[in-house]
Amino acid sequence: CIRTNDILNVGRTPRHHTFFEMLGNFSFNDYFKKETIAWAWEFLTEVLSLDASRLYVTVNHRDDEAWDIWEKDMGFPAERMCRLGDDDNFWPASAPTDGPTGPGGNCSEIFWDFEPDGPADKNPGNDESNRFVEIWNLVFPQFNVTEPMVDGRYTLEDLGRTNIDTGSGLERLACVIQGKRNNFDIDLLQIIVQKVASLTDVPYVMDAAADSPEEVQNSLIRRVADHARAVTFCIADGALPSNTGRGYIVRRLIRRATLDLNKLGVSECLMHQVVEAVVEAMGEAYPEIVQRRDLAEQIFLSEEQSFRRTLGRGLELFARAMTRHQQQGASTFSGDDAFELFTTYGFPIEVTVELAEAEGLPLDEARFQARMDEFAEISKGGKQIEVFQASALRDAKPQLGATTFVGYDQLEVPATIRLMEAQGEEISEAPVGTAVRFALDQTPFYAESGGQVGDSGQVQGEGFTIRIDDVQKDDDLVIHHGVVIEGTARPTAVSAQVDEGTRRATARHHSVTHLLHSALGHYLGDQVEQQGSKVEPNGLRFDFTHDAALSDEQAVQVEEWIAQAIAAEHDVSCKEMAIADAKGLGAKALFGEKYGDVVRVVTMGDASIELCGGCHVTNTNDIGSFRIVREEAISAGVRRIQAVAGEVALSLAQREDAIAAQIAGLLALSEDPTPRATIAALTQTFKVTAEELPARVAQQVDQAKALAIIAGETLTLTGDTVVERVRILGDEAKRLRKLGEQQAAAKALAAIDEVLDNEQIVAGDVPLYSAILPGVDGKSLRQAAERIMAAKERHLVVLGAHADGKVSLIVAVSKDLIGRGLKAGELVGRLAPLIGGRGGGKPNFAQAGGKDAAALPDLIAAIPEQLEALGCVGGAS
Ligand code: ATP
Ligand code: MG
Repeated sequence: CIRTNDILNVGRTPRHHTFFEMLGNFSFNDYFKKETIAWAWEFLTEVLSLDASRLYVTVNHRDDEAWDIWEKDMGFPAERMCRLGDDDNFWPASAPTDGPTGPGGNCSEIFWDFEPDGPADKNPGNDESNRFVEIWNLVFPQFNVTEPMVDGRYTLEDLGRTNIDTGSGLERLACVIQGKRNNFDIDLLQIIVQKVASLTDVPYVMDAAADSPEEVQNSLIRRVADHARAVTFCIADGALPSNTGRGYIVRRLIRRATLDLNKLGVSECLMHQVVEAVVEAMGEAYPEIVQRRDLAEQIFLSEEQSFRRTLGRGLELFARAMTRHQQQGASTFSGDDAFELFTTYGFPIEVTVELAEAEGLPLDEARFQARMDEFAEISKGGKQIEVFQASALRDAKPQLGATTFVGYDQLEVPATIRLMEAQGEEISEAPVGTAVRFALDQTPFYAESGGQVGDSGQVQGEGFTIRIDDVQKDDDLVIHHGVVIEGTARPTAVSAQVDEGTRRATARHHSVTHLLHSALGHYLGDQVEQQGSKVEPNGLRFDFTHDAALSDEQAVQVEEWIAQAIAAEHDVSCKEMAIADAKGLGAKALFGEKYGDVVRVVTMGDASIELCGGCHVTNTNDIGSFRIVREEAISAGVRRIQAVAGEVALSLAQREDAIAAQIAGLLALSEDPTPRATIAALTQTFKVTAEELPARVAQQVDQAKALAIIAGETLTLTGDTVVERVRILGDEAKRLRKLGEQQAAAKALAAIDEVLDNEQIVAGDVPLYSAILPGVDGKSLRQAAERIMAAKERHLVVLGAHADGKVSLIVAVSKDLIGRGLKAGELVGRLAPLIGGRGGGKPNFAQAGGKDAAALPDLIAAIPEQLEALGCVGGAS
């Protein structure tokens, strides 16, 4: 159960959550008050073994029947019973006086007394001290409220059939049974509360005194825990953050929790990490939250991130506005400022309300509402602000009027250029190379709209040609964008020609977009909403609401469904009709799109019917073939499919066949029966495009071969399929590399003994032990150095090594040499640049990392001169 009207109570009272588990009983049968009361009593006192002497009961002030059942039949002591009015004990609350009309009934509520030694109290329903908690509400619908109160009178008719409707809060019962005073202290919620405490590094202090600073923090922690739990369940149930309806509740809860986290001193996103605790606490009973855990984490993160981005600024602006109001002695917080905070900075209005109230200035809600209404009006019918530069065409729009579009069935028509401009200025002549924009009296060119791109083609006049690259609409005026490619263009009579191949390719993609929309609805459910689309000659993009990735199986189903619709050879009909008729036919309209009274309905047999002004094939068979190329998330809860149709799909398949065959050859397989799947898998593995795959695989094979040679083995390719071979090859390469390195390291370490025997005296009397150890990593290098240091009391050790593209260097100096001013840290600082690196350390031991292994011999050779430069030449000199 989610109760957003309790949102302000959460954390403040010990008994309210936004999301809680209500143990509900709703049924019609041959039992009513008497049985229900007896069963509730039995459950509380016998099953849950609650101490009967600590229970209180309320009944509706009119309900003598319930009173008598409690007192006479149940023997419940009258001193712990009271009658309450319709505000408290009628469902729906206050219906007899304020409505709504319809069925309703009296309530009888059962309360628990946390302070049995407190003064006797008849009215637990009127208690502000939290001494009592309502644990169960028994509702007895038995009336039909025919009309709300008039002149202090109202009518309650008897319902023909009564029923019972009882609800008890699981968390409140658990609180009582577990001997706690606060719902959040029960075991179930502590898992989440403690998680929040540990993530925020703020302790949750049990039984903190009311009004103590600890209790203030406790209540923030409780709220974050509550909201995290509520939102996790919302998301699992398919309610995703948005600016309207239930989506706004989700967004609001996340934002409120973010604000609370801020108050707890947390400035980075962490709510997504609380999901884990929610799943731990409740996943066993609610598998859907386990299933949607990733989605929930992802949504928490992206929501929290984006809110945090605007939050700082919002709080700042709030504070500034507040100071201004206070200085001006205002009695309310201005609705204009609240509106600005809400629309521009995403600052939740109830947060403004709360903050303003805390400062003693209530929000001017009427003004805020007025601004909101005005805003809704603008965003509904309002125009976008025009941000174009100067344009002669735009200025002449009223005179030019609407352009007649004839391009649904004609691709070449005679027309007249009515106004031509270059760089916004009207011109009468445009030489070759000029970028022009112009309007025609009638046009076959489709202007970009409804996701379909503008047409391309050419416009030819006497002695000139303009290549058309794009076509846009400014209201009803079609504006052609192009470049003069021949002669000098003039605003005269022309022939307007749409490029037929491109247009057909676009139409195929548009028609198949409709089929895709149907197919997705079919396999993912009708809640899938189109969020946007882009239809081009070489592909399509389709965005839709869905909270999970399309599985491979679903993708195949969608493709097959579309293939069937193509093969079914449905004629595509485009008809104009009244919007009501279109809706009657069940035509899909795009959510949020505004339509006129007359709409164009595009029908493809029984496969699709949709409102659309775009260009389509005449028969679904013209689409040829269809393929999904990619499916991905573009924001939380919104997926994008990229797909291709017709020749684009065919040539894609051919290319894939060729690539797959090439890869199979590289791996000594004769053929690949599943080129598409192979390429999909390998592009995933290597994170490269299909085109780059053969080179990548070849490189992998060569590398494995080389590693095999180093390790003294020969490489054999095993595995039945390309994908398997690539995987095995990768594992082999890893094994061989390790083997090679181990061999090299062993060899290198063995060489240390040799180093011990080959000391070299430098700088007069310094015994230098140096070596280059290929294939030795930093750790083994250290071991090697320590071995020398231990064996030779007086030493300067310089060891270089390289493995995996990393070069390491160690310098060690014995005590007496340090005394002479030879410090390992300094020497390493001088040597490291020679291998393109940096390093440092203590006087007796220092390390460096670098890149250039080839420079190591020069580095060793440079040691004497470096010692000289450091001024630590001694002994014989
Ligand atoms: P209260 O006055 O304490 O808010 P209520 O009268 O709103 O309670 P009902 O509408 O009768 O409660 O709901 C039935 C039961 O559900 C209550 O007896 C209580 O146990 C539980 N309940 C109601 N609201 C909440 C909440 N916000 N959080 C947890 N449990 C609740
Ligand atoms: Mg309530």
